[in-house]
Amino acid sequence: MKISVVGTGYVGLVTGVTLSDIGHTVTCIDIDNEKIQKMKKGISPIYEPGLDELMSKNIKNKRLYFTNDSSEGFREQEVIYIAVGTPEADNGSADLEFIEKVAIDIAKNLKKDAIVVTKSTVPVGTNEKIQELINLNKDSAIKVEVVSNPEFLKEGSAINDSFNGERIVVGSNSIRAAKVIEKINEPFNIPVFKTDIRSAEMIKYASNAFLATKISYINEVANICSRVGANVEDVSNGMGLDSRIGSEFLNAGIGYGGSCFPKDTKALIHLAGLHNNNFDLLREVVKVNNNQQSIIVDKLIDRLSSINGKKIAVLGLSFKPNTDDMRDAPSLKVIETLLKYNANVIAYDPIAINNAKKVLKHKVLFTESIEEAIDKSDATLILTEWNEVKNIDLKLFSKMNYPLVIDGRNCFDLEKMRYENIEYHSIGRPPIM
Ligand code: NAD
Repeated sequence: MKISVVGTGYVGLVTGVTLSDIGHTVTCIDIDNEKIQKMKKGISPIYEPGLDELMSKNIKNKRLYFTNDSSEGFREQEVIYIAVGTPEADNGSADLEFIEKVAIDIAKNLKKDAIVVTKSTVPVGTNEKIQELINLNKDSAIKVEVVSNPEFLKEGSAINDSFNGERIVVGSNSIRAAKVIEKINEPFNIPVFKTDIRSAEMIKYASNAFLATKISYINEVANICSRVGANVEDVSNGMGLDSRIGSEFLNAGIGYGGSCFPKDTKALIHLAGLHNNNFDLLREVVKVNNNQQSIIVDKLIDRLSSINGKKIAVLGLSFKPNTDDMRDAPSLKVIETLLKYNANVIAYDPIAINNAKKVLKHKVLFTESIEEAIDKSDATLILTEWNEVKNIDLKLFSKMNYPLVIDGRNCFDLEKMRYENIEYHSIGRPPIM
């Protein structure tokens, strides 16, 4: 099929590339011309394992195109996916400015009937708004049907998730449109769950909010474990063996971040509020998450008394491993506090430094060498569980002024750490002094 995808960020580009890989002819559209020029050469503007290779393959096979000209991108297409951002607005709701602009742009450029599919995460009722906006602005002879098709990929494993996802949710009030989208996705061989538009929109928010709840839950359990002398790792392993609970998203740490959970939990609270529901449970999830980052800075100050002028090594900046995404990364909040106390921060990350520099500017020294970061430092904080960090030679910590390691991601086995000459604090596990 001839498909276009609007927005070539973490979701749009992966959607376009994987749809082209299963045989469709895809045009990816973005307003950012610099990105478009890069992508035309097969260079991905984001870091996502396997993406560059798959892009180049499908460009070569003449199934994948890029343009910043929406009149070209929408003219011939049968199906148009919307994958632009829906960032957090000041009141916590999802900002639909980009979505609305795209809907009008599509309507004004369409020359034939089309199905418009929303991949972006949007509050309940948005797809109906998209339909209205398109109807208002399109040629009346052209028929447009709208489908909600929320995305569940995870940054860092997005390609794998697209080919091996657990469900594809298709919400539409048109049986025909839903069938077309099901057919498009057939080669992925992933179960399709069909429902109405509003339920599909809600599935996405309810899923993200539930996962965030699991994380805050185990983090709060970890905080209690530290007080009562239990080990949260064993607790979560013991819980996860129960298939009703499941072991995923039960890793204690310094909280969730990224471009989805923080904004989606708040958008769901906002949506609930519009309908006289306070969603107290989710409010607490957000509150627990907001406090979780302070745990390691509190521990650091408790151990060093003052960090004024001290060299603090930070290992890991991205909100999770295998991505360069710094949006709402917990590291930003931790580093902000370290700087407030006048620490000299040196930060290591294998991939995210360029994006981190855009936010942290010159306030922090950056390095791609773990050794350089921890050499003669007064403390090391671990904020992202990159493999490079998990597989570090523990002897390197002896190069610190004093081997104080505070691990916000529980990267190291406690048994192993007992034999090292390291003062080691982690989340919800007994300290090793
Ligand atoms: P992103 O910010 O990485 O990318 C958005 C892209 O849209 C940018 O390249 C931007 O230039 C482009 N854009 C904005 N306005 C445009 C316009 N009018 N025409 C063409 N292009 C335009 O966003 P993302 O992380 O890919 O997220 C997109 C949506 O998918 C959001 O609603 C998000 O909540 C949802 N989502 C994201 C993830 C994730 O892991 N990032 C996972 C599931 C769902």
